[in-house]
Amino acid sequence: SSIFAAVELAPRDPILGLNEAFNADTRPFKVNLGVGVYSDDNGKIPLLAAVKAAEKARVDAMLPRGYQPIEGPAAYDSAVQNLLFGADSELISAGRVVTAQALGGTGALKIGADFLKRLNPESKVYISNPSWENHRALFESAGFEVENYPYYDAATRGVDFAGMKSFLQSLAAGSVIVLHACCHNPTGADLSDAQWAEVVEVCRAQGLVPFLDMAYQGFADGIDADAVAVRLFSASGLQFFVSSSFSKSFSLYGERVGALSIVTASKEETGRVLSQLKRVIRTNYSNPPIHGAAMVAAVLSSPELRQQWEDELAGMRDRIRAMRTGLVDAIKAQGVEQDFSFVAQQRGMFSYTGLTAAQVEVLRSEFGIYAVSTGRICLAALNSKNLPYVAEAIAKVVK
Ligand code: PMP
Repeated sequence: SSIFAAVELAPRDPILGLNEAFNADTRPFKVNLGVGVYSDDNGKIPLLAAVKAAEKARVDAMLPRGYQPIEGPAAYDSAVQNLLFGADSELISAGRVVTAQALGGTGALKIGADFLKRLNPESKVYISNPSWENHRALFESAGFEVENYPYYDAATRGVDFAGMKSFLQSLAAGSVIVLHACCHNPTGADLSDAQWAEVVEVCRAQGLVPFLDMAYQGFADGIDADAVAVRLFSASGLQFFVSSSFSKSFSLYGERVGALSIVTASKEETGRVLSQLKRVIRTNYSNPPIHGAAMVAAVLSSPELRQQWEDELAGMRDRIRAMRTGLVDAIKAQGVEQDFSFVAQQRGMFSYTGLTAAQVEVLRSEFGIYAVSTGRICLAALNSKNLPYVAEAIAKVVK
């Protein structure tokens, strides 16, 4: 018999499964609010002008394709550090940050998880309830036991901060706590700056290992404003991890451009941590790909291209905000009594709308509108053409 006879069919990824169903749908008015990508007002994934310029220069240069350093090129790693920690960061000047290029934010989480498993094999990992669905799978596949900490409060459509804090205060030292640095996926509900400061203090008091996941820097309030959690942890003197991604902020999803940064206690420690992280990378994929990271580094190191990118990033951020308020207003204009104003307060690409699984199903079957069964929608998939239709459909299913 076949050597694969015992292989069981794995369940489909729920969101990618939704995409397949959407692609198979022949209704011309269909709308995909399921997948987490930013589309412009024409419903297209943008190629940013700053990226286009950097790419053109790169292609014209026709460079050879040797191997990169295991941790990625210094110009890229340093550009990542400047965005996360601030160009004037004392951690950077003191040599207390290890940064390695990674295969998107996902790859950064994976090498971070593998490194942590070797460091603290007995630790447990805690992720928010709910969280990005891949968080659990990534840390479990690294060998960790993964549990939830309280996060979303459906009643207030915000964060159950008291619940979260007291839970964190109950954790054993060395527990790894995965925190969404901004633009929480899937809920859109973020901590306030004051709450972040409290989380830092709990991590210090309990001896927790903070692992910040920064997948949407610049999508809420701006590059520096969205880094407040990273900056507060930086100021605390604690050691921590940050996974970061340019998938959204540079619209480079398929290029797989991200990084893992680890804040250490000293420059000497940085050298030892980097040496072990390189071993993890070496045995996974040896060294990272060139192209996407080269474009990002080129944009971030050219004053003109960087300004152009910041403007384009602001354009994406503002458009999502406009879709949030537009959706709230349009649902209200349909005479819906239920309050949706929270959608305009949530941050990033997503909203937990409070729509039930049954309502999501009606949106799909009757209106060709695809959302995640949890009620999560991607605001960045709305545009001036489909928004009125979506608002009308939501009004019909909630009335
Ligand atoms: N973390 C979170 C919270 C995310 O939402 C995502 C992407 N949807 C990622 C990490 C991974 O991003 P990437 O596509 O860069 O791997």
